Amino acid sequence: MAERSYDFLMPSVNFFGPGVISKIGDRAKMLGMKKPVIVTGKLLEGLKDGAVKQTLDSLKAAGVDYVVYDNVEPNPKIRNIKEVKKLYEESGADSIITVGGGSAHDTGKGAGIILTNGDDITKLAGIETLDKALPPLIAVNTTAGTGSELTRHAVITNEETHLKFVVVSWRNIPLVSFNDPTLMLDVPKGVTAATGMDAFVQAVEPYVSVDHNPITDSQCVEAIKLIETSLREAVANGHNLDARTKMVEAEMLAGMAFNNANLGYVHAMAHQLGGQYDAPHGVCCALLLPYVEEYNIIACPDRFAQLAEIMGENTEGLSTRDAAELAIKAMKQLSEDVGIPHSIKEIGAKPEDFELMAENALKDGNAFSNPRKGTKEDIIKIFQAAYDAE
Ligand code: NAD
Repeated sequence: MAERSYDFLMPSVNFFGPGVISKIGDRAKMLGMKKPVIVTGKLLEGLKDGAVKQTLDSLKAAGVDYVVYDNVEPNPKIRNIKEVKKLYEESGADSIITVGGGSAHDTGKGAGIILTNGDDITKLAGIETLDKALPPLIAVNTTAGTGSELTRHAVITNEETHLKFVVVSWRNIPLVSFNDPTLMLDVPKGVTAATGMDAFVQAVEPYVSVDHNPITDSQCVEAIKLIETSLREAVANGHNLDARTKMVEAEMLAGMAFNNANLGYVHAMAHQLGGQYDAPHGVCCALLLPYVEEYNIIACPDRFAQLAEIMGENTEGLSTRDAAELAIKAMKQLSEDVGIPHSIKEIGAKPEDFELMAENALKDGNAFSNPRKGTKEDIIKIFQAAYDAE
């Protein structure tokens, strides 16, 4: 347990529930936004009556002008944030509204960072590196999810080096977040599974992180319970509003938890897979989770035994170690049930890349809170185990 002295960070206003998106125009006006850049992707922009359409309708009704950037890519690249910056400056915009999943939010945050903190974002990778405030930022979330609409993290990929890096700063936290589950009814099955597993990993890693505290623990426990009882249903029937609603609550809880208790080697290593092979982040996390946590068990077996119980496993009569192993088994089962592949081979991973990826994983901002302190060789072995999985 970390020392009992910590900051607890999250956006100051968070709208949650079916239909809340209609309030965005008034809220933008209240914040003094005159011309936000809407940062989104083409797919979302094309959805009939989807999140983008509803956001723009609400802004129009409130008399707020806007300009749209619709070229967000998955694992957002430096070129994306530079494009947003250019549009922002050329159009005379004064603020940013991101509409989408983690990729849209991080593109908006990344653009905000280079608008006020200097052009070379690679120099700002790390923790609390930002001197200046970003332009006012509202995040409309459409996946459940990364939690990026609430967090101080901006995850960007350098397309030249294939390195995915994180800028972690309280200045990145959006002023306002919107989580309207009706906007998630159209999320395809594969994206629901991947983003849901990301939320799950974001509840597991802070639970065993060296920085966990009683507030984040309670968020992790509730998030895991909600995911256990709703992710399979949301994947099986994307129009199940109750399952979608619970998944949004879970992703918000997990987002708040990791924003404050940090993550671990799953995310540090998943960033290498995402940067190197441009694979979906949630899939990378889910593929690595059981192998990282098997490695972590000896650092905090009691925490893993508790995780088994939180996931609804019967641990009665088991030793702590056996109960901890049951948690790993339950994690694999959840992945299996929602259709995540088994091996990192399936996203194009190659053993010859493991050494460099292991070196970079140990430098990733998420590595420092992992409960067990590993060597490069340990990380290579974990990549290998996730590769050999059948
Ligand atoms: P994403 O934003 O890349 O979206 C995945 C796909 O789903 C895209 O094709 C998108 O167009 C589509 N989509 C999104 N919402 C939809 C909707 N409502 N209906 C239909 N399609 C929809 O995926 P993500 O998992 O949300 O974000 C992943 C990114 O976030 C990664 O780069 C990851 O590293 C980063 N991340 C950031 C944080 C943070 O705190 N900043 C935390 C975790 C992950």
